[in-house]
Amino acid sequence: MPNLLSKYDTIVIGSGASGAVMAYELASKGMSVLVLEKGKRYLPNVDFEHNEMEMYAKLYKMSGLQTTKDNDVTIAQGQTVGGSTVINNAIWLRADLNKILPEWKAFGANIPQQTLINNYSFLEQKLKVKKIDPNIANAGSQIFLDACQRLNIPAEFLTHNRESCLGCGWCNYGCKYNRKTSMLVTFIPWAEAKGATVLDEVTTCVVTNKNGKANGVSFMRRGIPHLIASDKVVLCAGAIGSTEVLLKSNINPTGNVGKGLHLLGGVLVNAIMPRPVHSYDKIGLSCIAHAHKDYLIETFHSPPGVFSLNIGAWYKEHHDLMMKYTHMIQAGVMTASDPTGTITLDKKERPVINFKFSKNNLVNIKRGIQTLTGIFLEAGAEQVLPASFKKISIGNHGEMTNIDKFIQKNDDITLGSAHPQGGNRMSDDPSKGAVNSQFEVHGLKNLFVADTSVWPSNLWANCQATAMAMSKYAATFVSV
Ligand SMILES: Cc1cc2nc3c(=O)[nH]c(=O)nc-3n(C[C@H](O)[C@H](O)[C@H](O)COP(=O)(O)OP(=O)(O)OC[C@H]3O[C@@H](n4cnc5c(N)ncnc54)[C@H](O)[C@@H]3O)c2cc1C
Ligand code: SF4
Repeated sequence: MPNLLSKYDTIVIGSGASGAVMAYELASKGMSVLVLEKGKRYLPNVDFEHNEMEMYAKLYKMSGLQTTKDNDVTIAQGQTVGGSTVINNAIWLRADLNKILPEWKAFGANIPQQTLINNYSFLEQKLKVKKIDPNIANAGSQIFLDACQRLNIPAEFLTHNRESCLGCGWCNYGCKYNRKTSMLVTFIPWAEAKGATVLDEVTTCVVTNKNGKANGVSFMRRGIPHLIASDKVVLCAGAIGSTEVLLKSNINPTGNVGKGLHLLGGVLVNAIMPRPVHSYDKIGLSCIAHAHKDYLIETFHSPPGVFSLNIGAWYKEHHDLMMKYTHMIQAGVMTASDPTGTITLDKKERPVINFKFSKNNLVNIKRGIQTLTGIFLEAGAEQVLPASFKKISIGNHGEMTNIDKFIQKNDDITLGSAHPQGGNRMSDDPSKGAVNSQFEVHGLKNLFVADTSVWPSNLWANCQATAMAMSKYAATFVSV
């Protein structure tokens, strides 16, 4: 346990994409910073193993089992020092700011476009962002790109934040070799080098306040209660996590905390090729197809455990499909939901996520599955299998009707999201939002929220780049 000060300039709750960048920015300005992280800190080369079950338990929130109240949508988030960046796919996408920022402005959130662009550039240089080298992409990637080209669907390799990647393909379980420039090996140690203190295994964080100002955080660590004072508190506990801390702290002055959750999410689709492709080898998420404005298609490949959960069949049929694992290629379809979800606390103060993809969202996902199925059939797939509870199989264009026939409601397919957003949305109008355009909670001074939970509408892109760029911008208000 490091020696703690009795008071800090700022306490940051959460050490993921937004928390690590926030800690670095504040410490760089000479502020005393304490970072409180719920998850444990691991040593990549010692603790990270090529073992799905072990790593889910170590690195994922609720061991990967966080779902919406109706269990229809799995929401994956990291819970470790470095947050979701430790388990993410290192895909780096700038958002389409020309589309997003006017939507945010209409809701009352004013974010300067040029500042975000400058922040993206700064982060890209720091995190070694570049185009993915096809030599480290899984074999399904080129098959996918070739089929897209024949169908005149624009598609390309993505950009990523990795350096000298070995292409082992285990990015979702922590990079053992420190080749992914996650927060664990970049902004967290850089913040510490500038004087920040990072405490892991911290539970039950409650923000304290007096006279309308946040003034510290109480928490437990390894069974010992702590109360540390600070001039400012910044919540970077991620969508759902930051809402949970606010609600547990009884902070909801405008009634908008826990409202407006939205997801970028969808479904994985698997295809059986006529010959072994060994697509599990090398990195999973590698390419994007710009097929339609209403859905995103990105290639992927899961290790066998997760893969087996996404093949909708049972017993012998499931076994027979898994025996074709070496022949499989995979991609995902995602769409952006409206901000209709809510987060509340149950009697035991656990978060309850009330969220449903709308009928319109489901239509977009189905159209995306249809397009992706067309790409896989063009690539020569023998069978295409959207992730589902009961097996849905499409072997030719005539069987495309199976998509509408068998997918009629959310739980007919296996829905998931790794990109939760909203819940504490930003608007200068206190009747609409939980924080203002300076990231400060309405009605309580010196308390800020700087993670994806403040985004008023969906980013329509993988979130880490914008989470970091927004947090760097938020730090300019915290450090005043
Ligand atoms: C499997 C997976 C793959 C992904 N792949 C990509 C990708 O390739 N590209 C991309 O752009 N995005 C990707 N993402 C999403 C991206 O990583 C996140 O959007 C981003 O990290 C969000 O940043 P954040 O700071 O809001 O939250 P996080 O990075 O999730 O950090 C929040 C941190 O707060 C901690 N916390 C929560 N509650 C508390 C509490 N009460 N007290 C203390 N600490 C708390 C959590 O443990 C966590 O460490 C992926 C996500 C997942 C889960
Ligand atoms: S594929 Fe590259 S970044 Fe991912 S875990 Fe392996 S070495 Fe690390």
